[in-house]
Amino acid sequence: MEGIGQPFLGDHGRGRKMHELGIVIKVVKTVEAFAKGNGVEKIDTLVLQIGAMSSIVPQYIQACYPAAVEGTMLKDTKLKIERLPGAGQCTQCDETFNPLESSNHCPRCGSRDWRLLRGKEFMIKEIVAY
Ligand SMILES: [Zn+2]
Repeated sequence: MEGIGQPFLGDHGRGRKMHELGIVIKVVKTVEAFAKGNGVEKIDTLVLQIGAMSSIVPQYIQACYPAAVEGTMLKDTKLKIERLPGAGQCTQCDETFNPLESSNHCPRCGSRDWRLLRGKEFMIKEIVAY
């Protein structure tokens, strides 16, 4: 089941603690609502996409997941997380580059003035039903 297309902006978190748990609970509720609305009774795998520049840490998501799905229809559902690479564009020379790989400056002209094109995504990519 491709493209639920539900963006989550979890980047305005107040403090680190339990930030991810709240996000995962929200994801689980969204998936449950989606499944019920589409007559899906069991979900084999849930696939999330997390941008490399996001403040959401995939390991924390994984760690929170068992607690978040406890007692829900997702309790036996596997979680898969895909990382999306970051991309920035230089405002001086229009070069596009991966900010994580070039220490936050443009590899062509050296400018530190660039805007983020991609990398802060947090998406439910798909759910795989039985
Ligand atoms: Zn540049």
